[in-house]
Amino acid sequence: AETWNAVPLAPPDSIFKLTASYKEDTFPQKINLGVGAYRDNDNKPWVLPVVKKATEILLNDPTIDHEYLPITGLPEYTGAAAKLILGEDSPALAEGRVTSVQTISGTGANHLGALFLSRFYEFNGEKKAYLSDPTWVNHFAIFKNVQVEPVTYPYYDPKTIGLAYQPFIDTLKSAPERSVFLLHACAHNPTGVDPTREQWGQIADVILAKGHYAFFDCAYQGFASGDLDRDAWAVREFVKRGVPLLVCQSFAKNAGLYGERVGALHIVAPTQETAQRVKSQLSVLQRSEISNPPAHGARLVSLILNDKKLFEEWKRDIETMAGRIIEMRKELHKLLTEELKTPGNWDHIVNQIGMFSFTGISSEASQALTEKAHVYLTTNGRISMAGLNTHNIRYFAESLDKVVR
Ligand code: PMP
Repeated sequence: AETWNAVPLAPPDSIFKLTASYKEDTFPQKINLGVGAYRDNDNKPWVLPVVKKATEILLNDPTIDHEYLPITGLPEYTGAAAKLILGEDSPALAEGRVTSVQTISGTGANHLGALFLSRFYEFNGEKKAYLSDPTWVNHFAIFKNVQVEPVTYPYYDPKTIGLAYQPFIDTLKSAPERSVFLLHACAHNPTGVDPTREQWGQIADVILAKGHYAFFDCAYQGFASGDLDRDAWAVREFVKRGVPLLVCQSFAKNAGLYGERVGALHIVAPTQETAQRVKSQLSVLQRSEISNPPAHGARLVSLILNDKKLFEEWKRDIETMAGRIIEMRKELHKLLTEELKTPGNWDHIVNQIGMFSFTGISSEASQALTEKAHVYLTTNGRISMAGLNTHNIRYFAESLDKVVR
């Protein structure tokens, strides 16, 4: 037989396909609400001013060369990144119980975390990981790739367009002890629905009681509320309570470094000695997969995190992005409820958080938006708030109003 005869043609990635269709569309008022990347009020990618400054500094630094980084990454970067998510005063950091490895952005952190669990976690029976229903679709493939079977737990309730709190808690309780639960640290993708602090507390209680493992994915720190510390609250609370956990971190969104692939995996271990053993194995895994992580993005983020002035500037840039998104939520809510009097309740638009909003519209309505109004969104009704701006929000609200009426 001919080589590769048996290779079936895979479907294109749905999000990237959406963007391709948007690009081909010649309708002047077309809107792309598919992709999860920040856009400014003129629908342009935004290079953060602080990143421009850091790039300038690197460019003029005569000590920069192009040697390999250590296998686990740039230490100034991973150390500062751990502080950013776990907190300056984290007891786990003070006790030397945290292992941090630089990864290929958040995707790489998820992969390395899943791979490490697949090799070393003492699963209770079958190798499974519980993912929220719904979740970032890539989570399924990432776990399957390392022979961990993805299963789901209830998360989103279409009736309330909010958290399916009780079914979620019930699943935490009924799952076998020591199960792995993937949790979105903040700004849940795709729903924009996060547990309240009180609910997080109760989730932590059950996780502790059952001896579960918390696999935190944190791709949007700062993007949810505009405040880096506030968005890290759940992770820090879980660490404080002694929940066994790891955190996948990405600087794609909050630093606008999508293409640089800057991320980290942090594993919080019970003791310093355990952390060292964990690190030795992560190092072996990393070596076989990428040898050494890429330098440029890590250097940029390291400069920003370790320089007081740049760090303050970055926080202002994050506020700019989060603030614009929050403004768009308010404006969309106002247009739908006050001006257009669109049927239904739209409070979730302002209650949801982060880059995405689950509108709650049907897949038929989503498709009608694309076909009739040239508004591109995934058929689950998720919209990227970053695709809205003062120029197109009225057209979007009117189009949405038409398809749900
Ligand atoms: N996790 C979640 C929930 C995400 O939404 C994303 C980005 N879409 C990622 C991880 C990883 O993104 P990246 O690899 O670009 O950091």
